[in-house]
Amino acid sequence: MCQHLPACPDGHAPDCAAARVVADHLEQGWSLLCNGAVLFEDGGALLADGQAVVPPASALRPRLAEHKVDMNGMMGGG
Ligand SMILES: [Zn+2]
Repeated sequence: MCQHLPACPDGHAPDCAAARVVADHLEQGWSLLCNGAVLFEDGGALLADGQAVVPPASALRPRLAEHKVDMNGMMGGG
């Protein structure tokens, strides 16, 4: 797949996102890298072997975790 010199990181390497973009679909928020990995706009990635990589913590929205409350406690009575 990759014909760059020096060769880009492997499709399942930790730094696979450092490979070069061969096809970008920015309007859809993702790019295909030469090693077969798909890089998403939010920093996540889908590796060549199908393994998903979560976005860096800085890209996550902490409010989601804070907002997750105990529904049973909230929905009591009525
Ligand atoms: Zn490459």
